Amino acid sequence: MAVIDIARAQQTPETPLDVDAIRRDFPILAQTVNGHPLVYLDSAATSQKPRQVIQALVDYYERHNSNIHRAAHTLAARSTELYERTRTRLAGFINASGPAEIIFTRNTTEALNLVAACWGGGHIGPGDEIVVTQMEHHSNLVPWQRLAEGKGAHLKFVPLTPTFKFDLAAYAELLSPRVKLVALPHVSNVLGTIAPVAEVSRLAHEVGAVVVVDGAQSAPHMPVDVQALGCDFFALSAHKMLGPTGVGALWGRTALLEAMPPFLSGGSMIGEVQWTKSTWAPLPQKFEAGTPNIADVVAFGAAIEYLERLGMERVRRHEVELMRCALGALREAHPELTHYGPGDLDFRGGVLAFNVGHGAVHPHDVAQLLDGQGIAVRAGHHCARPLHSVMDAPSSVRASFYVYNTTEEVDALSRGLDEVKRVFRRVIERPQ
Ligand code: PLP
Repeated sequence: MAVIDIARAQQTPETPLDVDAIRRDFPILAQTVNGHPLVYLDSAATSQKPRQVIQALVDYYERHNSNIHRAAHTLAARSTELYERTRTRLAGFINASGPAEIIFTRNTTEALNLVAACWGGGHIGPGDEIVVTQMEHHSNLVPWQRLAEGKGAHLKFVPLTPTFKFDLAAYAELLSPRVKLVALPHVSNVLGTIAPVAEVSRLAHEVGAVVVVDGAQSAPHMPVDVQALGCDFFALSAHKMLGPTGVGALWGRTALLEAMPPFLSGGSMIGEVQWTKSTWAPLPQKFEAGTPNIADVVAFGAAIEYLERLGMERVRRHEVELMRCALGALREAHPELTHYGPGDLDFRGGVLAFNVGHGAVHPHDVAQLLDGQGIAVRAGHHCARPLHSVMDAPSSVRASFYVYNTTEEVDALSRGLDEVKRVFRRVIERPQ
């Protein structure tokens, strides 16, 4: 008999998340840190994991563990089925044309490197241009730098507008038939800026370029439909979307993936092996050499299921409300903060980067004082060093929100910053 989830059936995209219930699924959040309840505002670095994901890992090792795709025994068949179930689930989650378009990798970084090596290696030549943006994480910059250097190609950068948005007009100016590839983040991990990927893809395709999207900060936080985005490749990391570390994925269009050579070679990715030559397995195995991270892929399936049950529209709405609350509260209580990122929340994910006293207080000092009050934020350049030169700041403090965060935690951050101001009052009040 089919079990109907009444609460879910009644849920609409407008139904607010039940954050109290969600928090009960995250055992790690129930602790105190430095004598204060933990306020975890570092989900852009990595998210916490619900019991369902932790239990999926335990279940896998206690009941199913076996290598996949090979042996003809029951555990192997079961492990293979669980592993492939995650592929199918992820394909549905991002609206891929089918599971064979999903390649499991270690993380977003590896997925982007795969495209640079296997697509870039065959399609980029001397004098070609690769367009990236000024808001790249190093993972979506360094692979293209290396590719350009190796091939005698050139990197071009899409600037940001004065309000930290993607500058679509400047992007259109950069495009020409010399541009072979456009790579951009769907959501910036520092500014929260949401890029207009559908428009970017449309314009890139007009000049014959392929579009690679770094989805590390979008897949966890908003509905993603790769068909609607119109891109050619999309990379993500499980650990930022309630899943375990050590798993990421690359989605690519079938025709492009089929035409690309393998990334790594060895077991599992072959068709026929002879002494001096070999042929490759069909997709997706061609790109998954060796024994993969089976247990973590299986647990990633539980994470996607958890997000699907919440509903990604609701996740996005929750973060918009937290961001609205945070920007309002911090602007009112802490006018001495410098904020980075679009003020327009339609163009902004749940990431809040700032400096105190126009950078007079070092971000590490801010983070350390907040940590003393149980508040976990990140300080530094967040793997986006060139972007910080555009922000005119060597580094910044970053608070980032997710499904388990509350408006009370936004208030705790604001109170935490009162303490920073108290300690650094003289530095903040010193004329700049
Ligand atoms: N891209 C963006 C926008 C990110 O925020 C991150 C991680 O913070 C990455 C890429 C790299 O992700 P990973 O370290 O999981 O490969």
